[in-house]
Amino acid sequence: MDFETRAIHEGQEPDPATGAIVTPIYQTSTYVQEAVGVHKGYDYSRVNNPTRTALQQCLASLESAEHGIAFSSGLGAVTTVMHLVDPGQRVLLIADVYGGVYRMTSQVYEPKGYLFDYLPAAEFANLADHLDDNTRIVWIETPSNPMLNIVDIQAAADAAHAAGALLVVDNTFATPYLQRPLELGADIVVHSTTKYLGGHSDVIGGFAATNDPTIAERLYFLQKSLGAVPGPFDCWLVLRGVKTLALRMKKHCENASAVALWLQRVLGVEHVFYPGLPSHPGHAIAARQMHDFGGMVSFLAGSPEEAAELVTRTKLFQLAESLGSVESLIEVPARMTHAATATAPFAAPPNLVRLSVGIESAEDLVADLSVALAAVAVQT
Ligand code: PLP
Repeated sequence: MDFETRAIHEGQEPDPATGAIVTPIYQTSTYVQEAVGVHKGYDYSRVNNPTRTALQQCLASLESAEHGIAFSSGLGAVTTVMHLVDPGQRVLLIADVYGGVYRMTSQVYEPKGYLFDYLPAAEFANLADHLDDNTRIVWIETPSNPMLNIVDIQAAADAAHAAGALLVVDNTFATPYLQRPLELGADIVVHSTTKYLGGHSDVIGGFAATNDPTIAERLYFLQKSLGAVPGPFDCWLVLRGVKTLALRMKKHCENASAVALWLQRVLGVEHVFYPGLPSHPGHAIAARQMHDFGGMVSFLAGSPEEAAELVTRTKLFQLAESLGSVESLIEVPARMTHAATATAPFAAPPNLVRLSVGIESAEDLVADLSVALAAVAVQT
């Protein structure tokens, strides 16, 4: 079945007890057993829950995965996957990794003896030169947050495997509608379902998928043992969001492309980062491995002051962290989502503005930015 059909039906048979067409929210912590150990497949909701099962099956199918494991947040997924690594082992991450992941690696795991290195996206063409016997995981985001860098997933998988490492792809920005890393050789895909998969700014969640049965078994074990599990209502919200993922992503891409093309022509905008622009260094790779170019656009304002002023002036683009929802958001990564990277060698430029382009009318969004940018130009 096609993606759009699986997004609506996979793992979501009508409820066997009542025929309810929508998967119920099984808001229960435990399940009555007929005799010791004799039950209907569920014994305790940290271990398993029917609403979570439906979500895991649906998202796994969308990522072309045999196994899907849901978490309480994107960082819950990241922290659990990082438990595949032991102290003393090395993880090589894309340099402009999400700030919260950098905070975790540098301030939580590194002091415990885990080794992390950060490689700029442009150097991934020579990834093999940066790997050694001790590298357990290569960790990429593509497009990356917030610089929208692109990495060739297939080439990264080949280099990682040749060195005996796993390739993990954070697919939050692209979503499985636009890009399916496991089909390109990645070993594990992770998501913040808080973003496009949920799609409505009303839930925090995470997800990981794999086709490797050994990794899957370990991740299921870690899911119940570390306990970063999502509640049934949160699973239900993501399940509902995913039903319209394909439609929403089409409109996100259409609007982001219109905004990026327009921004390129605006005086006072120094540089626009959008993989859909032919001038983007990763455009050709993105065109090959993605279905379309996504809903995120970043650009450099004239100065940090102009960036900070601009984000208070837009009316439709709301000043807020997060991304991937129906409504448009604007932020300054260096002072908000990526503040944790302030002292890192790859800190987000202080004049960078990140847009999460929503599914409102493209004309209204451009008009909103136009008025705000003009007001900043008058001010400065
Ligand atoms: N990965 C990426 C690319 C993100 O942008 C985020 C959050 O912004 C996360 C992971 C973490 O997700 P969460 O906020 O759901 O913990």
